[in-house]
Amino acid sequence: MTEMSQDGKSGPRPCLLCGSPNEPSVEHIIPQALWKRFGLDPDHDELARFRTDLCITHNQATSVLHQRTEMMDLIETGSPVTKKTLQHLGDWIVWITLLLSLARGRGVLGVEASRQLLLRRFDKLHAGTPKGVRVYAALVDDSVEPTESETTPFVLALKGDSRVLLDEKGAPIGFSVREGPINASESIRLGRVVLLVVGSTYSSGDDHEQRIDQAVARVGLQRIFPPEKALPKMEPTPIDMTDVSQLFTVIPDGADNSLMPEALRAFATWDDPGGIVH
Ligand SMILES: [Zn+2]
Repeated sequence: MTEMSQDGKSGPRPCLLCGSPNEPSVEHIIPQALWKRFGLDPDHDELARFRTDLCITHNQATSVLHQRTEMMDLIETGSPVTKKTLQHLGDWIVWITLLLSLARGRGVLGVEASRQLLLRRFDKLHAGTPKGVRVYAALVDDSVEPTESETTPFVLALKGDSRVLLDEKGAPIGFSVREGPINASESIRLGRVVLLVVGSTYSSGDDHEQRIDQAVARVGLQRIFPPEKALPKMEPTPIDMTDVSQLFTVIPDGADNSLMPEALRAFATWDDPGGIVH
C-alpha cells in the first residue's frame, strides 16, 4: 500500500477510483476540450478542483465519456437540442458530478458509495446510469434577472445515504442526524447549460417522481433523464443558481417534508440535530 499524499503535496496521487499507485495521470474531470472552448487553460491553478489523478485504465475509461462533440456544442452554444445530445448530457453529468464530489471528498452519497458507483461504471460490469437518479437541465438566459421564488428546501431520503435507517426488509424507518453531506442534489453550470442531478430517493407515495419534477420546475429546470417521450423545449430561461443549489436537502429541520417517505415525515419537524432518532 502506498500512503495517500497530503493535501498540498504536488505530484501524482494514487488513482482516485481504485487506489492503484501505478502511473497515475491527471484526469480533467471537466474535459480540457470544454475549457478550451471557453478560452480557459485546463491546467490553470484556478481549475485544480476540477482535476484529479486516475490510473491509466480509469483515465481511458473516463476519456471515452468525454468524446461527445455535439453534447459539447450544446453546452457551449445552447444547441443542438436533440434526443441524443440530451441523453448524452444526462448520462455524462451523473458521472461528472460523482467524480467531482469524490475528488473533493464530499458529495451527495459520501465517498464510498460514490466510489462504488463509479467503479461499476468504469469497469463496465454494470454500465448505464445508476437506477433512480434524475437529471434536470435548462438553457440559461442571462439577459433577464431571475424572479424571486420561494426558498423552502425539500428534504429527501436518499438511497445509499447511511443516515436513512432501514428495517430488515429495506424500508426506511428512521433517520439519524450526524455528520455527512447535506446536499441531496448536485448542481452545476457549464456554458449555456445548468444541470441538477438528484440522487435516487425513497418514495413519498403516489406521484413521487412527478412531484420531484414539479419542485424542480419551480426553479426553471426540466427533466432530461430519465427522458420523456417528448423532447423538452429547452427555451432559454433566467435561472437563479442559488435557488437551484438549495432546492433539495437531506437535513429535515425547516424543510418541506412532502417528498419524504411517510414513516420519516415525523422527523422532518424534529429540531434537535445532536442525536439519533429511533
Ligand atoms: Zn484506477
